[in-house]
Amino acid sequence: MQKDGAGFAGFATWLDLTPAHPDMLAVPDPISVIQLPWRPEVAWLASDCLMEGKGVAQAPRNTLKRLVAEAAKEGMRVKTGVEPEFFLTTPDGNQIADEYDTAAKSCYDQQAVMRRFDVIAEICDAMLDLGWKPYQNDHEDANGQFEMNWEYDDVLQTADKHSFFKFMVRSIAEKHGLRATFMPKPFPGLTGSGCHAHISVWDLTGKSNAFADKNMELGLSEKGRHFLGGIMKHASALAAICNPTVNSYKRINAPRTLSGATWAPNTVTWTGNNRTHMVRVPGPGRFELRLPDGAANPYLMQAIIIAAGLSGIRSKADPGPRSDVDMYREGHTVTHGAKLPLNLLDALRAYDEDSELKAAMGEEFSAAFIKLKTQEWNSYASHFTQWERDHTLDV
Ligand code: ADP
Ligand code: MG
Ligand code: MG
Repeated sequence: MQKDGAGFAGFATWLDLTPAHPDMLAVPDPISVIQLPWRPEVAWLASDCLMEGKGVAQAPRNTLKRLVAEAAKEGMRVKTGVEPEFFLTTPDGNQIADEYDTAAKSCYDQQAVMRRFDVIAEICDAMLDLGWKPYQNDHEDANGQFEMNWEYDDVLQTADKHSFFKFMVRSIAEKHGLRATFMPKPFPGLTGSGCHAHISVWDLTGKSNAFADKNMELGLSEKGRHFLGGIMKHASALAAICNPTVNSYKRINAPRTLSGATWAPNTVTWTGNNRTHMVRVPGPGRFELRLPDGAANPYLMQAIIIAAGLSGIRSKADPGPRSDVDMYREGHTVTHGAKLPLNLLDALRAYDEDSELKAAMGEEFSAAFIKLKTQEWNSYASHFTQWERDHTLDV
């Protein structure tokens, strides 16, 4: 396989290919190999997809690798950490698994964590064995919701780990008779599942953090500000990749939840250590993008972060003034900063209008992405709902 790749019918992959296309060959990347901790006779590998000797432009990992190379050409190595939240549910996915997990503020609930100790510990032990340096597990803001954190790494490694993490969490949950979901908003009224990304840029040796400058506001260097400027400038288009499902828009722009806050942004604003904006600078030398959700493709979300950041660095983009409004207390009202897209179609249109970002992600990739996602939107829009009957029957 390492030499010739494993053959697949590309049609099966949602990459805008048809049964008439020749075999797609997946060539394993040896840096990614993992012996399944819960099934050691099976190995997992991330692969690079080729067709007739050429990289498939729409394949997410290829897109990310191209952007990593672009950044490297400019002397930059992007490192990120992700926080993929998830729910543990009953096997049918209809309700949270723990019937006693009902507290209005369930964040960090020690009792609820202990009721799921076997699942969380097995996942955490696996990450310890894999050398990912996991450092914290918690019960998150919503009933039935958890988060497990491991140390940041180069973007490609983080994306491989993120992809494997989702597979592992689901597999181990199933082994315990449960189901894990990364769906952005599985339960109305409860906080949704985000997948925040913490971002920093280093020199090519990976030793010197180019985002760190203790003399600058919040310890974020000039380069960091420009990178952030690119993220702010392209935020609406970013949503198409970071919030790629119909359901994603029930997490961002959401009304308050049972716990009192949504923890999800609705405006293109940035701030210091304040969790009510799209970007938070929690400490010197990095920033946190709170936009992505559990549905974001692990490779594409990293790719578009680099694409937007490079655009910002090249154009010396200014992120604008930082916003210190407490969106929680003052409500989700904002005096400056655009509103994030309200639904998937809005986001796809913003992506389609952002020719610079489309080109940076690759024209072929972008065309396939917009086409497939527009089909998804159309399928949703043609679906009849009870809401329509309730609100329209007597017009
Ligand atoms: P919070 O919940 O406060 O947002 P977490 O501890 O859950 O923070 O997640 C922080 C993530 O940021 C982790 O993956 C961590 O490794 C990562 N991180 C820390 N420092 C950096 C950095 N300089 N660059 C990129 N990621 C970082
Ligand atoms: Mg966290
Ligand atoms: Mg966070």
